[in-house]
Amino acid sequence: MNINTNDLHLEIDESPLSSPLNDNNNESNIILILGTIFVLFIIYYVYNNSEKSNENFENKNILQLIQETHQLCPVMKHKTQLSTCIHHPKLNKAFIISTCCKNCIQTIQESFNNESNEYTIIEKDNIFILVHDNKEVQVTPVCSEENIKLVIHLAKTKLMD
Ligand SMILES: [Zn+2]
Repeated sequence: MNINTNDLHLEIDESPLSSPLNDNNNESNIILILGTIFVLFIIYYVYNNSEKSNENFENKNILQLIQETHQLCPVMKHKTQLSTCIHHPKLNKAFIISTCCKNCIQTIQESFNNESNEYTIIEKDNIFILVHDNKEVQVTPVCSEENIKLVIHLAKTKLMD
């Protein structure tokens, strides 16, 4: 009997409180949902705009290409260790390449000299690209002190001595 009256008492006590509380909860839920949508919209807007500004910043793309393609040696497919300028006789220009060792630089230089076309450099939209068996393997900037510093910085390689 005692338990029953307690139960009843609780029910009576709770019912007048529960409805304004529920209303408050609904309101704060709506605010929370609207807030979340607003935050998501802001994130979407900022993300979209930053992507667009990257697209317009052409230097950013070429830097990413240099960084990515100078990670892998075009000959041995190992992680690159060295960067250096090598001369392409046909184009009569020197270009910056990165390889895992001096032997691989030698391999590429000999191919250029023999015009074997196993390795060569092509120009595409003002960008020079090292090609191996007709496959583009490394973006090779024209040799200059400034460019080689940049490549070494991006690829985390060392200048060949
Ligand atoms: Zn090597």
